[in-house]
Amino acid sequence: MWSFDTEPAFQRELDWVRDFIRGEVQFLDELLGSAWNIHDEAFKKHVRPLQAKVKARGLWACHLGPELGGKGYGQLKLALLNEQLGRSRFGPIVFGIQAPDTGNSEILAHFGTAEQKKTWLEPLLENNIVSCFAMTEPQGGADPLQIETTARLEDDEWVINGEKWFATSAKYAAFFLIMAVTDPEATDPYKRQSIFVVPAGTAGIEILRDYTYLGEKEADHAHMRWTDVRIPRESLLGERGMGFAVAQVRLGGGRLHHAMRALAEATKCLEFTCQRVVSRTTKGQILWKHQMVQDKLADAWIQLRQFRLLVLETAWLADQNNDWHKLQQNVSAVKVMMSKVLHDISSMALHLHGSLGITTQMPFANHVMNSFMLGLADGPTEVHKSVVVKNMLKGVEPSTDQFPEYMADKSTARAGEIFNQQ
Ligand SMILES: Cc1cc2nc3c(=O)[nH]c(=O)nc-3n(C[C@H](O)[C@H](O)[C@H](O)COP(=O)(O)OP(=O)(O)OC[C@H]3O[C@@H](n4cnc5c(N)ncnc54)[C@H](O)[C@@H]3O)c2cc1C
Repeated sequence: MWSFDTEPAFQRELDWVRDFIRGEVQFLDELLGSAWNIHDEAFKKHVRPLQAKVKARGLWACHLGPELGGKGYGQLKLALLNEQLGRSRFGPIVFGIQAPDTGNSEILAHFGTAEQKKTWLEPLLENNIVSCFAMTEPQGGADPLQIETTARLEDDEWVINGEKWFATSAKYAAFFLIMAVTDPEATDPYKRQSIFVVPAGTAGIEILRDYTYLGEKEADHAHMRWTDVRIPRESLLGERGMGFAVAQVRLGGGRLHHAMRALAEATKCLEFTCQRVVSRTTKGQILWKHQMVQDKLADAWIQLRQFRLLVLETAWLADQNNDWHKLQQNVSAVKVMMSKVLHDISSMALHLHGSLGITTQMPFANHVMNSFMLGLADGPTEVHKSVVVKNMLKGVEPSTDQFPEYMADKSTARAGEIFNQQ
């Protein structure tokens, strides 16, 4: 039953992807700005032909099930694919599996009406448009119960008011999925929000400012204001008050894909470092022969392999039972590790490259910054660690005695009872 083999046919696809990313796609990272700027002439000229190659190979939008024209690969294969794509900022968009469009397409596929699917989902899957998921607000993203944006029903229209923060790709999006409070009186605080699909350009939607973080080429994360934005009643996705349940649909798989892309970034950092340590001499010795350097390299390799195994195990489990709820602990552990592993390995790579390592000629500072980004976006590390621990302690009973049952004296006495020895 246990096997770490990859099917030969799929391995051939992975090998093709690996060469394609390293031979062509990764050079787009130097050439182009935002990966969501699909109407830019340079995007059309350089990205569209590469996307055509992916389509011809049958690897386009692999996250989708066969009913939507995808391969139905499942999480394990998607994880292995993302391990290759993550080496390049443009990898995901060239393969039609970029965030936030993947998650948004899953929500539309699950909850959209036939008309919404035709209008939004079909062009989204072709990357003829891109989308935005607007949930976080300026007053606090890690606690989604602090959402203040409201949607109230007036006649046959929803009227939305509020502010959104760090809404990625807002300025390029053809539509938004927005989370707003519809049922403030609901006793369960997780049943107060709903998700809506809203066309960009609807009156009342404003981008106040776009933000960027160090290492990014363009400002793609919007602070938005929504003032009396009126949309038809049927713009609601899923049931009213079930916004969190609807949003969950996009999270599980997405976190694993991000994890494998982070693994790809860390692997790249380690590869570059390997070349550095066999090329440079200091104090009469090649760098890698210094034991403190070996200590760093060994830790990095071990950390990478452990992380890879955890992500692949989680992906495998997801394929077995298709129940993300049961995998909360694994997924949260993956979420915590992706930021730590990338942080540790990209910092080590930067350090071992010396002064060159901190220059903009090297990618390491960007990867370090990405590691911080991964630790706070989509729920900060602290919150995910809490999930790991809550799951770990589920069903663990406190000791009824001051001294635990596993003390040697008590164990010996119990052994005596079991084996009839006095
Ligand atoms: C690159 C990027 C892209 C993003 N894209 C989107 C997007 O497209 N759509 C969208 O809606 N949002 C997006 N976000 C927002 C993201 O989801 C939030 O940044 C995240 O949820 C954290 O919220 P916050 O930034 O308000 O931090 P805060 O909520 O202010 O938290 C700040 C820090 O406080 C600490 N903290 C918070 N809660 C706890 C706790 N319970 N226990 C202990 N410590 C805690 C943590 O150290 C945390 O990092 C994006 C963010 C980034 C960085």
